[in-house]
Amino acid sequence: MKIVCIGRNYFEHAKELNNPIPSEPILFVKPETAILPKRNPLYYPDFTADLQHEVEIVIKICKLGKNIQKKFANKYYNEIGLGIDFTARDLQTVCKEKGHPWEIAKAFDNSAVIGKKFIPKENFKDLLNIQFHLKKNGDVIQTGNTKDMLFHFDQLIEYASKFFTLKIGDLIFTGTPSGVGPVAINDKLEGFIEGEKLLEVNIK
Ligand code: ZN
Repeated sequence: MKIVCIGRNYFEHAKELNNPIPSEPILFVKPETAILPKRNPLYYPDFTADLQHEVEIVIKICKLGKNIQKKFANKYYNEIGLGIDFTARDLQTVCKEKGHPWEIAKAFDNSAVIGKKFIPKENFKDLLNIQFHLKKNGDVIQTGNTKDMLFHFDQLIEYASKFFTLKIGDLIFTGTPSGVGPVAINDKLEGFIEGEKLLEVNIK
């Protein structure tokens, strides 16, 4: 399986990193080895001095597809979850400056933390109005709502599947809202969708 991630999908987040608003989704991929095994702590990698959290709504692909049209895209995902796209921001800044790919900053081992469960999408009244937030050591540090996405789930599936065949079990990390920031050893992060705690990770 693979994880397709979306960069700059929330206006306020693009602004906080001084990035222009994209006219098409910005994609990158994390391999299966990026997934932090369930219940493991995240050990602070030695190659970065600026590990940052990005809490994101994650959708799970339930049907094999390629060149999926937007109007059919909703048949290709059935569950919604929460994830953290951990980013070595210092490495990413160098990659961006040099015009290099982002993989060493974004796709390293354990950089994808996924919540303990996914929620069937029928359980949500409105997929365009899902509230989510992240706490660090008990304080809310990131809050988002899917109504603020620049490109919504169906558009992301249409665009991503032009380039990448989507397979059952693949995940799409749909972009972070504003409020990204550093984590430190001994931090505890907890993620919530609509008030339900779905994710917990400790930094060691
Ligand atoms: Zn992200």
